[in-house]
Amino acid sequence: MNLLMIKEKIKNIYDKIIGPFYRRTVSDKKVLYPFFIIVASLFCIMLAELSPHGKMRAWYYELTHREIMDKGIQYAETENNISAEIGNFLTYYRYEKFGASDPATVDAEAPMIALTFDDGPNPEYTKRILDVLNANYSHATFFVVGTNAEKYPDTLKAILSSGSEIGNHSYNHANLTTVGAEKVETEIGEVNRAVKKATGENTTVIRPPYGAYDENLLNQLQEPVVLWDLDTEDWDSRNAQIIVDKVLADVKDGDIVLMHDIYESTAEAMEILVPKLKELGYQIVTVSEMAKYKGKELELGKPYGKIQGLSKE
Ligand code: ZN
Repeated sequence: MNLLMIKEKIKNIYDKIIGPFYRRTVSDKKVLYPFFIIVASLFCIMLAELSPHGKMRAWYYELTHREIMDKGIQYAETENNISAEIGNFLTYYRYEKFGASDPATVDAEAPMIALTFDDGPNPEYTKRILDVLNANYSHATFFVVGTNAEKYPDTLKAILSSGSEIGNHSYNHANLTTVGAEKVETEIGEVNRAVKKATGENTTVIRPPYGAYDENLLNQLQEPVVLWDLDTEDWDSRNAQIIVDKVLADVKDGDIVLMHDIYESTAEAMEILVPKLKELGYQIVTVSEMAKYKGKELELGKPYGKIQGLSKE
């Protein structure tokens, strides 16, 4: 094949593709021009969608992020002996993708808060909250009720795998000051049994339902009692923006924030709030971690939050 033949071939192809646009009759052009404009517009829309702020890109980003997180967590669950390596991988991934810090570098002098979630676990909303915590290298404390703990063992596992903490919120959400010592024993014991069965670990802290406690109860309970300093009243508003505004208006170093991981609005609020709190310089840790970093040992027989918060003041 010589140069002339190649030239001829190119001309043929050119004629086939481009030719119609200038050799057509006027009536053909009436059809072709609108067609050309529509195709060009679709192309522009596609470019916009794929841009850094486009929805398609955000969707793809979210998809791959979830896949990686799920893989990491499953892996850590099944291969206990190499979970440290997975931990390192996740740390690197979060650092790369989100500029999140390593938990080993929590600065005891910098502000920190403990987000707490009662009444779960919930397979959907707890999972969403864990996703946003993971993405921001943050931890929280989940005070679970026994009825849900028994139903959703996988969610309990996911809480621990992501470095968060499981607390006890009684089996039936009972007012522990009115049921009598024997019933307190079963209300607390049954949750511990369910958590132990699902995760192999014990709960570490207790939050009595309604924050109700008295001397007798404090003397009976064998894990530190944790109340709260900042009540979001998320069960009342069921509105993500109201929850976000309330926390941002009142939050201060050492706060224990009360929320419930059984509402979609709370999960939605967390997706806005956690990155925002990180941006404001707050480290988000579990109640037990906060006590540790602030050099306070959680003691039995004392309610923390409200009365003896973990704030410096
Ligand atoms: Zn509750």
